[in-house]
Amino acid sequence: MKKKGLNTICTHEGELIDEQHKGAISPLYMSTSYAFDDVDIKRYPRYFNTPNQEGLCKKIAALEHAEDALIFGSGMAAVSTALMAFLRAGDHVVLQQTLYGGTYNLVTEEFSKYGITYSFTEGWETKDFEAKINKNTKVIYIETPSNPLLTITDLKRVAQLAKKHGIISMIDNTFASPVNQNPIDFGIDIVIHSATKYMGGHSDICAGAVASSKENMERIFHLAKNFGGSLSDYTVWLLERSIKTMGLRVKAQNANAMDMANFLSNHKDINAVNYPGLPMHKGHEIAKEQMRGFGGMLSFELKSYLDPALFQKSLKLIKSSMSLAGVESTVLSPTQTSHALMSPEVRAEQGIADGLIRFSLGIEEIEDIKEDLEQALEIVKSKASVTSNT
Ligand SMILES: *Cc1c(COP(=O)(O)O)cnc(C)c1O
Repeated sequence: MKKKGLNTICTHEGELIDEQHKGAISPLYMSTSYAFDDVDIKRYPRYFNTPNQEGLCKKIAALEHAEDALIFGSGMAAVSTALMAFLRAGDHVVLQQTLYGGTYNLVTEEFSKYGITYSFTEGWETKDFEAKINKNTKVIYIETPSNPLLTITDLKRVAQLAKKHGIISMIDNTFASPVNQNPIDFGIDIVIHSATKYMGGHSDICAGAVASSKENMERIFHLAKNFGGSLSDYTVWLLERSIKTMGLRVKAQNANAMDMANFLSNHKDINAVNYPGLPMHKGHEIAKEQMRGFGGMLSFELKSYLDPALFQKSLKLIKSSMSLAGVESTVLSPTQTSHALMSPEVRAEQGIADGLIRFSLGIEEIEDIKEDLEQALEIVKSKASVTSNT
């Protein structure tokens, strides 16, 4: 049978049929206990095999062009279980510089307790990964586009490098979402998502997912049932509903982000715009090869005389938020939040300026988002001129 298209997979793949009442949507099975007698599958939520879990796993596997998938109670449950399934005492892992903060904390705070060593790359090029590989390296871990500068890592070349050394390659594909990027098509072994972001998409679900080959997922499952990080069936059911519109949402967010990136890069109060869809972005050529859309995330720097905190406070429609990827537009200042614990020197080294603002584009009308930005900039500029005159 011909492979189905994105929105058909989003809407239908893995749906459960309501035989009893012929309802239109997947019924929700909240049972934690299932009859045992003549069935060979022992269903239990922590075994990741309730009807709703299995249905949603099929959808996510199809979306990531994977043989199999598992859904977790959070993105970090997915990240930690996937990593630990392939690492043991004495092993080494190579990680990309600028990872999601929670992943960075997991590695730097926990791994030494288990005798696992690690190296962060100095850049995003394939040679930066190669430079850190040693004979104990078992995993290469990447994130592209990454937070907050939207740097791009070459999927195909990293996958080739990993294969050459017999190493498992893993990606956190949260920022791109399966709508824009399918790393398995480029040879990456394991794809991880914080489903709290684009899969959930409405800022009301915390979940995670991992997709890979049957063989790799079997190994991850064995650890997962012992770690116990499964997702409640009610949330599984909500997540299934959310993913039905993921294709529509993310494409609208791609379009809004592209429009906003162009608008900001021509704006006199803005210093720099980081968006892989802009030809001037360092990773643009690679992004064009490996992404179908450039995503709904960008970041920009206000001119240095403009106060980023006041700018955020002056926004009316756009909210300040730690999280991202919802249908509503949100902003965050990395220096005040996600990267606050980093020293100013390390931040500067990584190109994270004090005036940097991370912008998660929602699905609102782009003209309304622009108008909100403009009115906030007017307020900040009036304060800047008052200060400079006194
Ligand atoms: C949010 C996020 C995570 C962690 O997901 P949780 O659902 O919060 O545990 C991991 N990676 C990226 C890129 C994220 O944005």
